[in-house]
Amino acid sequence: MAQKLETAEKEEPPSSLCEISETNEEPPDLSSTSISLPIFRRSTPDRPTILPFPIHRRHLAPKESKSRAFRKKFYPAISSKEWNSWHWQVANRIRTADRLRSMIALSDEEERALAQSAIKLPFAVTPYYMSLIPADDPLHPIRRAVVPTEHELFKGPGEEDDPLGEDNQSPVHGLIHRYPDRVLFLVHDFCSTYCRYCTRSRVVGHGSINASQSRLEKAIQYISQTPTIRDVLLSGGDPLLLSDDKLEWLLARLRLIPHVEVIRLGTKIPAVLPQRVTPKLVRMLKRYHPLWMSLHFMHPDECTPETTKACAMLADAGIPLGSQTVLLNGINDTVETMKSLMHGLMKMRVRPYYLYQCDPITGSSHFRTPVTKGLEIIKGLRGHTTGYAVPTYVIDAPGGGGKIPLLPEGVIGREGDNLLLRNFEGRCFRYPDLQ
Ligand code: SF4
Repeated sequence: MAQKLETAEKEEPPSSLCEISETNEEPPDLSSTSISLPIFRRSTPDRPTILPFPIHRRHLAPKESKSRAFRKKFYPAISSKEWNSWHWQVANRIRTADRLRSMIALSDEEERALAQSAIKLPFAVTPYYMSLIPADDPLHPIRRAVVPTEHELFKGPGEEDDPLGEDNQSPVHGLIHRYPDRVLFLVHDFCSTYCRYCTRSRVVGHGSINASQSRLEKAIQYISQTPTIRDVLLSGGDPLLLSDDKLEWLLARLRLIPHVEVIRLGTKIPAVLPQRVTPKLVRMLKRYHPLWMSLHFMHPDECTPETTKACAMLADAGIPLGSQTVLLNGINDTVETMKSLMHGLMKMRVRPYYLYQCDPITGSSHFRTPVTKGLEIIKGLRGHTTGYAVPTYVIDAPGGGGKIPLLPEGVIGREGDNLLLRNFEGRCFRYPDLQ
């Protein structure tokens, strides 16, 4: 176990990679348990009461924050100000089996996985996200998503380290140009919390994709010299783990390119580290519109008071928020759970955007469901809830075919255990569909 953890400590870039800078800015108190409402005067005929916007958020008034009780139990000497500092959260991530064991009773399966040096994806969880995991439930959805198990060592049929063929569509290290008019720009490979089902588990946390000036300049130069690119998606790793200054530098450089119309940020920060969404960050981001955000959520338990507040700050800055959710076996693969998540997102002003069939990365068979399960969930949502709450269910075609919506006309048929699909170009792909 110690061997594996030492390896992870070495492999993962130090916190300094994300260029955490000291700031005097007071972090918002995200653990606050109430939203203050205005005092109303009695209406009179000449002075009617106009309900201000916040009154409509009463249904969002946070319940008792889980993180407060967790902080008192495991970090009694830590002030609310420290807890609500994203720098503190990143610096104090849970990264060792010993620390994890002091918080939850590890199963034998988890103990063995944490002792394995063959699992490449590092283990790390922010204290905030850890506070959402009950101590005594090995099958808790968030725990299953972040604590490794031995299943990651098993390579199932059709699984690959790079199932989407990203490395073959990368003109510059860390820049993926698959669709003609847009690029995926991996700004670095650092995350505050690592998801065990991550499509880029072959690279995240390893430090090979870093935010060095020279690499970023090369990617910017490619975008600048390719006039067909009108949309740049910044991802990683998590782009919101760059310092405000570095992120602003990058956004400003992209904004200087005349053909770049839209910039998008792909991030899991509101779910795992909502403390990162500071007033200063939001003030900076709103200078670079049109700016969109794709937020990664996977379970309704992530819709906490802290996350609600972070999403409200981003939405109030005029940033359209969409969600991306991976369909995960035993975590969110029921109509009831998915509907609850989609409703939670709608209440946080996040538009459900994509529901992904889990990519066949190496060691993912315990996370993947049959495709019929996803179709069943969409059927259970369509017509049974607000149309805005129904995401588009897609398979990212193995080999780099791009996202294919799972509509009846997207499925051509079967060939043994493979599902035959047609992509946006009319080309055919095979997906290994576990039955
Ligand atoms: S936050 Fe995104 S990039 Fe980071 S581990 Fe999770 S899925 Fe992968």
